[in-house]
Order: sequence, then structure tokens, then C-alpha cells
Amino acid sequence: MTDLGTVPKHFLSDKVEHFTESVIREMTRQAALHGAINLAQGFPDFPAPPEVKRAAVEAIGGELNQYAITWGAPNLRHAIARQMKAWQGITVNPETEITVCCGSTEAMIATLLAICNREDEVVIFEPFYENYGPDSILSGAKPVFVRLHPPEAQDGDWTFDERELRTAFHNRTKAIVLNTPNNPTGKVFTRDELELIRDLCVEFNVLAITDEIYEHITYDATEHISIASLAGMAERTVTINGLSKTYSVTGWRVGWAVAPPAITNAIRKVHDFLTVGAPAPLQEAGAGALGLPAGYYQSLASVYAERRNRIMPALEEAGFRCYRPRGAYYVMTDIGAFGFADDVACTKYLVEEVGVAAVPGSSFYNHPREGAQQVRFAFCKRPETLDRAAERLAKLRDLRKR
Ligand code: GLN
Repeated sequence: MTDLGTVPKHFLSDKVEHFTESVIREMTRQAALHGAINLAQGFPDFPAPPEVKRAAVEAIGGELNQYAITWGAPNLRHAIARQMKAWQGITVNPETEITVCCGSTEAMIATLLAICNREDEVVIFEPFYENYGPDSILSGAKPVFVRLHPPEAQDGDWTFDERELRTAFHNRTKAIVLNTPNNPTGKVFTRDELELIRDLCVEFNVLAITDEIYEHITYDATEHISIASLAGMAERTVTINGLSKTYSVTGWRVGWAVAPPAITNAIRKVHDFLTVGAPAPLQEAGAGALGLPAGYYQSLASVYAERRNRIMPALEEAGFRCYRPRGAYYVMTDIGAFGFADDVACTKYLVEEVGVAAVPGSSFYNHPREGAQQVRFAFCKRPETLDRAAERLAKLRDLRKR
């Protein structure tokens, strides 16, 4: 009988050999399989804002059911430009500088495909959101990782070494990928750090690709700064954002890339042949969502601050050492107190025996051993979900090494 599980090697692209499927998405499948509470993949388990949902229903009823303009519905592009002006003081031309994509995920890979040639290098801070590695490989570029070091003190920030970052830049460097607020660490890059990165980008003639999907989720009066707003950066920055996290609609798949016109042209070409366009009615609803009053964003951040303050003591109590996030909705933890063989053994035990799904730290590192003592929990969940998870996690207390 023919074994359909194997095919000749030449049937497959070499590229796909260099990365694995998403561990984050796999953990969601594991959570469903074991009936565990899903604190793995970052999506809310509470409803999206009613006015945003209503706008989508109206758009479908109003026959906005055919393709939008490939690079985005005008209403949404204009709303994005207005928001970037209002929040970051950045002037953007919605006709020539914005491409709406199927989620920020597509915006990121369309950007890398549009700018990278073989042998180009892309600098990525590590730990990193797992898509960036495969995105670079698929676009033919070589990822070069620069370490974010965990804080020593309970309340400190993740930091990078200036010399190490400088060493990563040279004449083959095409771009640096930034993610602020950061997934998985919760780091929010400071103005000083961004200026340092800016200086390197200018000196080495490098682009910044900045994923700012958690822009509105910051804590403890931490300020989010877009690197595109720094002098000398507008002409060399691609800013990526989307509806998913700000409006709790991760399944809608609406995101965008904002870039100077010549780069936007290239991104639009790639985007057109990848997906033609993002869902038209959801773009229309998105235009409305971006017009929500300032109070919406304040309450989003304060609701998530409350959730962070709910889950962190429960995790600490159970034996995890938490790195306090300044933004985004994840808490990275150190599992050294337990004596698990590694992060994968820990998350396996958590999902199967404790009933809580989390993401093994190694999936955010190039070399799995680097994340072997870390596990990430998402807290974008209802308070009762977090409380149920806390009850289950309490069982871990007995596992701690004496
Ligand atoms: N950003 C989310 C996370 O890190 C999930 C994104 C995704 O799976 N598409 O969990």
C-alpha cells in the first residue's frame, strides 16, 4: 500500500524544513483536547464591543460584500491616518502610505517579502513572537538575534546590551524587527532605547519594521512610543498594527502596514497576490472602531491592568517567578522553583494534569535551551476564567522544590 504520509523530498520546499508549526496555536489545540483553561494563545474569551459588532452586521446587510480596494477600504485607511496623527503625531497619507492586510500577520510577512533579498539579514530581539523567525526565512532573509535580558529585580525591565546590538548591524543588514509593547516579555521600549536603535538604523541605512499591535495596552503609566515618530525615521519605518488586540476581534483578520510610498507600493504588490484583500465588511466596521472615544482605550488598558494584577499573585503563589509586564497581555515566568526537566515538560504537565494551557518559553527563542526555564501565560481573559485557572494552579504548590 502507498504510504501517503511520506512524499519524495523534492515535492517540498527547502524553506519549510527550517521552521516548525506554531507552538502557540498548537497549545490552543492541546487545551481543547484536554479540556484545559487556555492561557496559551493570546485572544480574549469575552465579547467584542457591541458597537463594533453592530457595525459589521450593518456592513454585511448594507451589501458591502464584494472586494474592497486591494490595499484597503478608503474609510479605514483614513481612520488609520487620523489615529496615527492623534496618538503619535505621525502624518500619514492614506492614499499612498497604507496597506490593509489580513491581520498584522500578513502585514508583517508581506513587508518582509517586499523588502528582502537572499542573503539580507534581519535583526530580531529575542525572545521574539514566534512568527518573525519563519517570516524572515520565507522571505529569503537570515534572522540575526539580539538578546533581551530578563530583569534581575522583581520589578525591573528587560534590557539589551548596546554593544551586542551594534555588533548585529553591518552592510548586509536590511531591517530590524521591533515589537513594542512586546510579546512575550511585556517590555515597552523607552525613548532612549528607540533613539539608540534609530541611530543605528540611520548609520547602517537599515529599515525598522515595528509591530505595535499592543499599542493601547500599557500599564503603570508606561508610554508607548512609535519609532516612526522619531526624527529621521518616518522615511525608513514600516509600522504594523491591526484591529485584533485593541478591539478584541482576533478572528476578523484585519491589520495594516504603514510605510513611505515607494515601500508601500512594493508591499501592496505582494499583498495583492497573496490575499487580494482583507474582508470588506470588517474593514468598514474597523473604520468605525478606530473612531471610538478616548475613554474606550483608557478602559481597555485599565481592565487589562486589573487582569494582570489578578493573575500575577496567583502565579507567584503557585511557584512561578513573574517578570512584570509593562504592556501587552502576557506574563513571562521563570519555572526554576519546580524542577521540571524543561519548559515543554512543564507545559505538558500543566495542560494534562493541572488543566491550564500555557506556552513553553523555548518557542520564543532560536535555540530551545535558552527558553527552557520560561513559560508564558496570557491574561486576556474574563476575571472568572483567571480565578478558575488560579484555583487549578494552586495544586502546583506541592511540586515546588524544598
Ligand atoms: N499573538 C498571539 C499570541 O502570541 C496569537 C497570535 C496568533 O496565534 N495568530 O498568542
